[in-house]
Amino acid sequence: MALLKKPSVKAGIGMTSQRTRDRMLSRLREQGIKDEVVLHAINSIPRHIFVDEALSIRAYEDVSLPIGYGQTISQPYIVAKMTEILRNGSNMNKVLEIGTGCGYQTAVLSKVAAEVYSVERIRPLVMKALDNLRLLKCTNVKLDHADGTMGLPQLAPFDGIMVTAAASHIPQDLLAQLAIGGRLVIPVGIDEQVLHLIVRTSTEYRQTALEAVKFVPLLGGTS
Ligand code: SAH
Repeated sequence: MALLKKPSVKAGIGMTSQRTRDRMLSRLREQGIKDEVVLHAINSIPRHIFVDEALSIRAYEDVSLPIGYGQTISQPYIVAKMTEILRNGSNMNKVLEIGTGCGYQTAVLSKVAAEVYSVERIRPLVMKALDNLRLLKCTNVKLDHADGTMGLPQLAPFDGIMVTAAASHIPQDLLAQLAIGGRLVIPVGIDEQVLHLIVRTSTEYRQTALEAVKFVPLLGGTS
């Protein structure tokens, strides 16, 4: 009887056909994603398990979708793009994500980095992401319920930091937690947001503005 209580989760994993996922992959290639490691990672994560059953029919469309608590699951293109920028063609050891949401980007990161830490400020979303990541056996991921603008100083430095909510400015704490050669990918702006890449060299932080994006805001505190 206990198993019958959560049929949607159990039935969810294999529900979507490989053809639907292949179409998403072809679309990502058309949109300019080239890193085969990233495309393989995206292909290996079933996005429909991260959304409510009523929305799962739309899980492989290139759209962000609501996940409750006023938050969204990022659009596949932006997940692929940010992962490609962070990876920059090399394997990563330790990565930090700010804004776990339902854990979709976290799961993709778990396929391209040895260790992934992700921080989320809304507790029920941490619980939701934990369930999803357990179901997919993403064992190299650790989640934290906290305000991510301060990063995770006790675990720094990170090879990559990805912020998946829009910041009004680049948090100093996150810059300080980058390893030399480390990369920070972060949407910056309030109404008009632009994705920025910051690379830490031995002497400076090099900042590049990349493309216009649309994210929920990075907020302070926890709830
Ligand atoms: N990475 C997610 C995106 C979720 S939306 C995905 O793959 O779909 C962004 C998330 O950032 C929301 O869940 C929001 O609650 C969270 N967030 C916003 N400000 C935050 C902060 N200061 N610290 C941690 N999480 C934050």
